[in-house]
Amino acid sequence: MRAPVLLSRRQAVLGALCGCCCPVLSRAATSEPFTTDEVAPGIYIRRGVDEDASPANEGAIANIGFIVGREAVAVMDPGGSLIDGERLRAHIRQATKLPIRYVVLSHAHPDHIFGAGAFEQDRPTFIGHARLPKALAVRGDYYRKRLAAIVGAQRAGTVVVPTELVQTRKEINLGSRALEITAHPIAHTNNDLSVLDRSTGTLLASDLLFVRRVPSLDGSLTGWIEELTRLKSSPARRAVPGHGPTGVDWPSAAADLERYLGTLLRETRDALRKGLQIEEAVNVVGQSERGKWALFDDYHGRNVTQAFKELEWE
Ligand SMILES: [Zn+2]
Repeated sequence: MRAPVLLSRRQAVLGALCGCCCPVLSRAATSEPFTTDEVAPGIYIRRGVDEDASPANEGAIANIGFIVGREAVAVMDPGGSLIDGERLRAHIRQATKLPIRYVVLSHAHPDHIFGAGAFEQDRPTFIGHARLPKALAVRGDYYRKRLAAIVGAQRAGTVVVPTELVQTRKEINLGSRALEITAHPIAHTNNDLSVLDRSTGTLLASDLLFVRRVPSLDGSLTGWIEELTRLKSSPARRAVPGHGPTGVDWPSAAADLERYLGTLLRETRDALRKGLQIEEAVNVVGQSERGKWALFDDYHGRNVTQAFKELEWE
């Protein structure tokens, strides 16, 4: 069975006009029906808005979705708040009555996983990176309080810990549909998972891939560049980014992220070589990227700070 693809006319028009960096035209998630795009047969993705979590979008800012096999459904990711997860679950239940057997938690960032509580009633296997439990132990409560302050405690949700951990690689089968789950070395974070659907050549990269929305670096700059290079040799022909359009060509869609990360690496090293202080580096590194990404001013400075701290020990 297929999920209704109810891309509204307004969404289609806005996507064509913009889809990147225009806050005036960005969609308010809660004023629109919950819709998904079928990016490949049986893979349905809801596009997150290019905003930070707010009372208006209720945390629905990441690309989330589900994959339907012959016997079961896998969710990746469950959403940015409990209410976001509940909407995703209701959407899945309209599309198929097959059991929701797996919920993949791609990494610890709250915009991807705080909807997990909506799926506890399905008793799925919650799959996470081997380092996810520690990341949630360290930051989960902080994330929960911050989200509760934005959307309200009832709608924020709670931390759901994974019930199955992936050290390197794991395969799950939804019935005539095998998904390959990879636990990556430190990159966007230290607990990133990706999912490869070989049957359609689709890589669900989550935040290992940002398109149009500025990346946020919370792991290792050099590690992320290495992982991106590795992912480009994946057999996938299409990818689902964690933020940006729901489906993009692979590996060509990695080009902008690669350029951004490469610029950050090169210019941060230059700044260190010139003896700049971290505050000075923030003002000069990567400024050629301004205007090319949504939310640039919200995240770029932090990325430079993170890169500086990583590279000053080289
Ligand atoms: Zn993330």
